[in-house]
Amino acid sequence: MHNNKTTLPATVDILIIGYGPVGATLAALLGRYGVQALAVDKVHEVLLMPRAIALDNEALRILQQAGLAEDAFDKIVIPEVRMHCPMVGQFGRANTSGSLDGHPKLVTFYQPDLEHSMRAQSRHFANVQHLGGFELVDLIQDDTGVLAVLRGEDGSQQQVRSQYLVGADGASSKVRSLIGQDFQGTSYSEDWLIIDAAEREEQAIDHVEFICDHRRPTPHMPAPGGRERWEFMLRAGETREQVENDAHIATLLQPWIAADQLKVERKAVYRFHARCCERFQSGRVFLIGDAAHITPPFVGQGLVAGLRDAANLAWKLAWVVNGRANSKILDSYDQERRPHAREMIALAKLMGSMVMPKNAPLAFLGHGLMRSLRLIPYLRSLFEELEIKPKNNFKRGLFMPVVRGRRLRRGGLFPQGLVRTQNGSIGLSDDSLGDHLTLVGFGIDPCTQLDEEIRRCWEGCGGRYLHIGLQGQKSRATTPFIEDLNYALLGKAPAGSLAVVRPDRIVMHEGPHAQAGKLIRESLALLGY
Ligand SMILES: Cc1cc2nc3c(=O)[nH]c(=O)nc-3n(C[C@H](O)[C@H](O)[C@H](O)COP(=O)(O)OP(=O)(O)OC[C@H]3O[C@@H](n4cnc5c(N)ncnc54)[C@H](O)[C@@H]3O)c2cc1C
Repeated sequence: MHNNKTTLPATVDILIIGYGPVGATLAALLGRYGVQALAVDKVHEVLLMPRAIALDNEALRILQQAGLAEDAFDKIVIPEVRMHCPMVGQFGRANTSGSLDGHPKLVTFYQPDLEHSMRAQSRHFANVQHLGGFELVDLIQDDTGVLAVLRGEDGSQQQVRSQYLVGADGASSKVRSLIGQDFQGTSYSEDWLIIDAAEREEQAIDHVEFICDHRRPTPHMPAPGGRERWEFMLRAGETREQVENDAHIATLLQPWIAADQLKVERKAVYRFHARCCERFQSGRVFLIGDAAHITPPFVGQGLVAGLRDAANLAWKLAWVVNGRANSKILDSYDQERRPHAREMIALAKLMGSMVMPKNAPLAFLGHGLMRSLRLIPYLRSLFEELEIKPKNNFKRGLFMPVVRGRRLRRGGLFPQGLVRTQNGSIGLSDDSLGDHLTLVGFGIDPCTQLDEEIRRCWEGCGGRYLHIGLQGQKSRATTPFIEDLNYALLGKAPAGSLAVVRPDRIVMHEGPHAQAGKLIRESLALLGY
C-alpha cells in the first residue's frame, strides 16, 4: 500500500474515474484540448493481466491523435488472419496486409506498454493530473455539476466537484451502477485460458490463426518482444485450477513447442461477455470503454471501441467546458457511439459462433458452408477484405444530414494520407488538422469566400483552415497548405469542394466552395451558435 495522504482538488472541470487505457487516452486528449482534468484510479499501477493484444488502423489513428508517436510502443504488423477447421481445412481468411488512413490494418501489441506510453503522454500536460489510490464510492449530480466521493487507501473520504464525470472504470464499473444503468446482453457459459508466452528463440507464427476445433478452439498469434499468445477454451468439467497448472499448460502447448523452450509470462482464465448499456450518458455523467460495453475478443475490438468513445467524447467535453459549444452537443456522444459499439459486439458474436462451434456436425456444416461461400467472389471479398466490419459511419449525431451519392460521407471518417507541409516536412495529414475544427479545401484555398466576421466567429469556436493541394503544388497564401503525396485525400472529394472536419476526424459538413459561408454558419449552428 502506498502512503497516500494526497489532498484531492475540491473542484475540477472533468473528473475521470479509472486510469486504464481508455481513461488515460481521454486524459491525454483533454490535455491537448487544454481542459483541466483529474483522473483517479483505485490502484496505482497498470494491470498486467493478459488482455488486449490486437488493434486496428482506427485505434492507431486515435492514439496518434492523442499524441503517441508511431514508435511509442512496439507492434507486430499482422498480414492475415486464418481460420482453420480440422475437418474441412482452411475455411476463412481475412487479408489484413496494407494500411488504411495512414496506419496498418491490424497489429498486435503488449497492452501494458501501450498503457505506460499513454500515461507518459498525459503527464506532459500541466492541466491534467492523475492520482492512484482513490476509489469512487458515491456520486451525486445536480444541474450544475457532479459531486464524487472518493475513498483513499487509509479509508478516509474526500469529495471532488466537477462539471462532468466520466466513468472509465472498466467492466465492473461503479459509475455504471451508481447511475442505475443495466448492463444488457449475455455472458458465455464457457471459460477460456489465456496464455502469454515469451522468450521463444525465433518467431514461430507471423499471422493470427484461429484453430476452430469444436473440442478445443484455440486462437494463436504473435506479439512483440518475442511473445506469443494462445487462447484455449476449457472443456466441460475442467476447472480453473486444473488448466492453470504448469503440467497441463505444457500438454496444451505440446503440439507447437516444448514448454521448456519458452517462458509462460502470464496466464488467466476468463469468461467472455457480450454486454452493452442502454445509454452511455446520464445527465452530466458519461460511460466510456468497458464501463459502457464489453465484447468477446474474437474480432479484437473491445479496447478499440473504448478508444473510439474517448475520441468522440473528449473534444465535445472540451468545447463545452471552454465555452465554444452548447452543452446539448454532449447528447450526440451516446447517439453516435452506442449503435456502432453494438454492431461490433454482434460481429464478435458471429465470429465466436465460427470459432467455437458446439459440436462436430455443426462445425462440419458451418465451416463447410463458409468454405463454399468463398467461391462466390462478392462474398469472398466481404470476408477477406474486411467489408463485413461495421463502418464507423453515424446515422444520427453532430453533423449535417447525409446526402446520398456524395463521395465524402457526412458523419463518416475523414480520410488520412501522407502529406508534405509548407516547411517541407513529410507526415500524416491528421497532424496538420491538429486539435481543431477545420474547414478543409480540396484543391482550393477554403478562406477566399469568407468575410472577416464569419472568420472571427469560426476562429472563436476553435475553427481553423487547411488547403490541400496536389503533390508539387505550392501556395503563397497565408492559409495552411499541405501537398497530398499519395492522393489519399484529394481523391475522396470533388476538386474545389470544402469539408468541415471535427477534431475527432469525423466529417461534420461538406459542400461546394461557393457555399463556404453557409457551411460554417450551419456547422456553428450545430455547436449551438
Ligand atoms: C482475453 C482478452 C483479450 C482481449 N483482446 C482484445 C484485443 O485484442 N483488442 C481489443 O481492442 N480489446 C481486447 N480486449 C478488451 C480490452 O482489454 C479492454 O476493452 C480494455 O482493457 C478496457 O479498458 P478500460 O480502460 O475501459 O478498462 P480497464 O482496463 O478495466 O480499466 C479500468 C480502470 O478503472 C479502475 N477502477 C475500477 N473501479 C474503480 C473505482 N470505483 N474507482 C477508481 N478506479 C476504479 C481500475 O483499477 C482500472 O484501472 C481483450 C480482453 C480480454 C479479457
